[in-house]
Amino acid sequence: MKTETIQLAGDVPGNHIELRVLRFAGKDEKAVTAYLQSSLHGSELPGQAALHFLIPMLEKAEREGRIAGDITVVPQANPIGSAQWFSHQHLGRFEFFSNVNFNRSFPLLDTFDTSGLVSLDGPKPLAERLKAQLLRLALPHEIVLDLHCDDESENYLYIHQAFLPEMYDLASSLGSTAILSWNSTADAAFEEACAHPVLQLPDSKRDVKRRAVTTVEFRGLSDVDVATGKADAEGLYRFLVHRGVVIDAAVKLTVDFKGPVTPLENVEMVRAPQGGMVLFHVNIGDEVEAGAKLVTVVTIPGDPSGDVTLTAPQAGRILTRRSHRYTRRGDDLLKLLGSKRSEQARPGSLEA
Ligand SMILES: [Zn+2]
Repeated sequence: MKTETIQLAGDVPGNHIELRVLRFAGKDEKAVTAYLQSSLHGSELPGQAALHFLIPMLEKAEREGRIAGDITVVPQANPIGSAQWFSHQHLGRFEFFSNVNFNRSFPLLDTFDTSGLVSLDGPKPLAERLKAQLLRLALPHEIVLDLHCDDESENYLYIHQAFLPEMYDLASSLGSTAILSWNSTADAAFEEACAHPVLQLPDSKRDVKRRAVTTVEFRGLSDVDVATGKADAEGLYRFLVHRGVVIDAAVKLTVDFKGPVTPLENVEMVRAPQGGMVLFHVNIGDEVEAGAKLVTVVTIPGDPSGDVTLTAPQAGRILTRRSHRYTRRGDDLLKLLGSKRSEQARPGSLEA
């Protein structure tokens, strides 16, 4: 394994960030190549835990001559977001300077040529230079796994429809319970930026059997522990073996994904009509009927007349819940996977 530290100068003198990039050189130039990164939203750590346990497995494979395709790993993809603390709380989703989500507004390239991207020391803000650099690192690879997590959540994947059903193997490897499929835009999330040049190719040239581009939602923010991290590392490893990136005769994958594949427009984003205390009636993984009680927002503590109870707009599965219990008007509260288009569906990504 080679460790490279890429330095990006800050936007004012005396500051810089460092991006730590781990590279495993494949011995078979025809093998599929893979890029894995985690914590693009600074405090989302289940993917980082998985990589923490995956890297020694890859080092062992390397010592034994079993790395077939090049593998690049960036365990902490966002040193800017990782360092954003305010009033003793970590806030790693939006960049403090611009208030732009760290996983939006990536450059969408029509080809794999990255020469037009802003350089490491180009005349652009640090966050834009970091995004360009992550894209330069990822685009040469056929597999791109961007490891995130939700708030309180099942283990699920975002996948562009062009990569389905070929990517059911990843869902099987990771034990994902659902796939959210998209086909228009994800507001230039990293995943979309990595898929974009592929999607400009005619179907016959996309070579989707070799490719996998996804945002992995590795459960919830607090699902960070040794057992889960090791199990997720094994899931990632199994997938890399299945795709021929790593050679390991002892590892076999059965592709048996049976979870729902839900288009984004079928996801019911249940939002708070008023602010207040959140009392959930459902947990993640629950199957509910249309009209079932989902959540009550208490707007006048002690006076039930102020309670606002939200019900399921259609039958489906509870995929995620927010972890906070105090909400503002308009906040997302949970995601329900429906089987028909949501009346609230809107273009772009589900969340801000
Ligand atoms: Zn995220």
